[in-house]
Amino acid sequence: MTGFDVIVVGGGPAGATAAGALARVGLNVALLDRAGRIKPCGGAVPPRLIRDFAVPEDQIVAKIGTARMISPAARHVDIPIENGYVGMVDRERFDEFLRVRAAEAGATRITGTFQRIERDADGTHVVFRPRGGESARLSTRLIVGADGARSNVARGEVPGGDTIPYVIAYHEIIKAPADGAGYDGRRCDVIYDGRISPDFYGWVFPHGDQASVGMGTGVDGVDLKEATAALRRASGLAECETIRREGAPIPLEPLKRWDNGRDVVLAGDAAGVVAPSSGEGIYYAMIGGQAAATAAAACLASGRAKDLALARKLFMKEHRMVFRVLRMMQDTWYRSDDRRERFVTLCRDVDVQRLTFEAYMNKKLVRAKPMAHLRIMAKNIAHLTRLIPAA
Ligand SMILES: Cc1cc2nc3c(=O)[nH]c(=O)nc-3n(C[C@H](O)[C@H](O)[C@H](O)COP(=O)(O)OP(=O)(O)OC[C@H]3O[C@@H](n4cnc5c(N)ncnc54)[C@H](O)[C@@H]3O)c2cc1C
Repeated sequence: MTGFDVIVVGGGPAGATAAGALARVGLNVALLDRAGRIKPCGGAVPPRLIRDFAVPEDQIVAKIGTARMISPAARHVDIPIENGYVGMVDRERFDEFLRVRAAEAGATRITGTFQRIERDADGTHVVFRPRGGESARLSTRLIVGADGARSNVARGEVPGGDTIPYVIAYHEIIKAPADGAGYDGRRCDVIYDGRISPDFYGWVFPHGDQASVGMGTGVDGVDLKEATAALRRASGLAECETIRREGAPIPLEPLKRWDNGRDVVLAGDAAGVVAPSSGEGIYYAMIGGQAAATAAAACLASGRAKDLALARKLFMKEHRMVFRVLRMMQDTWYRSDDRRERFVTLCRDVDVQRLTFEAYMNKKLVRAKPMAHLRIMAKNIAHLTRLIPAA
């Protein structure tokens, strides 16, 4: 087989999006995925993703109309999701849909496990093991590393790729109960409680006839299964049938470089790109996949390896500020139960709800009325200095 222009390693949201975008501009692209494992994920996606990536209605297994924020003292604030809904996707079907769409655009699908990159006088080659077969080698001009958290491509090729900080997230897929008695198939529960997670949060995300119940933490020694069991008890979901138990790392910080200055560019979790505070990664993986495809196409057209750096530049230009604000939010409010209690209290404020939800739903930091900003800032300061009570 003659070589590919680009081999994309990993067929999750980042890789499938990159492969589809590269095929659409007429490049000869392969999508290598090892298949056989469903990505552990809550599956919540914002309307911006559904719109921008033309996700068909039948991929949305639940439409969420309310987010319930729950405090350590078990107080809750219900935030109505105005002008739309948060969609829930089932990653087994969603990822396959994205891979099929990439293949329909012209990408060659290959099932196998990436092993290493080799370079010699004939160029760059990807060595992989096809399912049930011996190692094989394919030649390529460029590689997109989209093989998820703890990426082998990142570890071998990009400075810092082996030291990305992570939280570990764990969830249980359960058979959803009927609505009522604390459960609502159109409501996401987000639990801020140090007993469930000392530094992140817990969740109950409905998925039609199933639900994802889980939590994340970067603190060593936390028993994830016990924390999730406690969350299920507190949410009245202890007796529901458990369908799967699974965990995976969520990267905490984008890498400083996403390319090796030669022939590799990263996208998605492989580049460390998940939003702080929320742990949202699917949208950013797809945007990162698109940016990696733009950078790879530019590099192939110009012959300049430095064009690979465009991927990070394009992404950060659009999302740096939101990431900064979310990082500050996590560092400020997820530190103790007192802070978490105050954070849930703050969420009662309609302007806070608008600001945070607009940032999530449409990926924009809206310019709210200046007086609203001032009022929110004053409330933040009053809570941080304990001038007003937590509840
Ligand atoms: C428990 C949990 C809950 C989460 N909930 C949400 C949520 O509700 N909403 C949200 O937006 N984000 C959520 N995230 C984050 C989100 O799942 C990730 O950010 C997102 O999947 C990243 O996409 P990706 O394409 O970069 O990587 P992945 O989705 O991990 O895809 C990587 C792909 O690479 C393949 N691969 C890996 N290694 C190899 C190899 N050696 N050879 C060949 N192929 C390989 C894998 O098979 C996989 O298909 C959650 C994460 C966790 C762990």
